[in-house]
Amino acid sequence: MVGSYDPFRLVPPHHYTSRNPAPFRVSVSMNVMLLMDFHAHLAHTEIIGLLGGHYFSDREIMEVIYVYPCKSSSTGFQCEMDPASEVAAREVFAEKGLEFVGWYHSHPTFDPQPSIRDIENQTQYQEMWRREDGVEPFIGVIVTPYDIEHDSNVSRFQFWMSGTNYDLSGQFRTPYSCQHSFLQNENLQEETFSQMASLVEEYHNYDQRVNMSETYRKDEEVSRLDKLIESLSSHINVSSKAAETFISQVRELMSDDFRPNKNEEASKLGSDATKESIL
Ligand SMILES: [Zn+2]
Repeated sequence: MVGSYDPFRLVPPHHYTSRNPAPFRVSVSMNVMLLMDFHAHLAHTEIIGLLGGHYFSDREIMEVIYVYPCKSSSTGFQCEMDPASEVAAREVFAEKGLEFVGWYHSHPTFDPQPSIRDIENQTQYQEMWRREDGVEPFIGVIVTPYDIEHDSNVSRFQFWMSGTNYDLSGQFRTPYSCQHSFLQNENLQEETFSQMASLVEEYHNYDQRVNMSETYRKDEEVSRLDKLIESLSSHINVSSKAAETFISQVRELMSDDFRPNKNEEASKLGSDATKESIL
């Protein structure tokens, strides 16, 4: 019997085994972890972006080293990538000599498991980037920043891809978790912080943005900002001095620019209206 088709149904990924091994290994930059996690914390709606890096076929390893946060046309349940963002990412990646190696999106409060729609998108991407040897070096990442049931303040991450076999229903390719490791001997890139500052700029008037001063865990008096900082800190793998400087810069960025300010919103609307009337 064919099950009913629900594109929002979440599908727990399978695990690769020694008998059914992953097609390649994945190694991720901490700068990538930081930026994806930061982006996911900013909005109550799903956020989305693209990942750049390299695939080394001789070593069967993918290195993920760059994040391009995209604009999304989010409905609150499921988000789609804005095609203009994809075109812009293509230019940036070409300029930096990077390949497209993946995409990420958030499930703000629910499990980081791909929905059937996510699997369809992922499969399309993999097919688009399939190499002549049949390898499809393109991964998906799902970030869940605000799962209150999760004991830790560190966000949940799922690295995954579509396998070659189909689900029993025959409707979609079975998703698999991909194990990942982290690149060693890295620095915190200045660009990571400037990308965070651009995201703050972009989201600070968004009506579904997260109020960072709000309480996240009532029993422990943890604010959303504290939660964000704790999660970001978990990715940092450099000397404590450099880490402290970075974290205090982020804290400052959020408290200066990311709190609700109704007057500012009103004045921005006002100035837009003026602009329009001049045109
Ligand atoms: Zn999803």
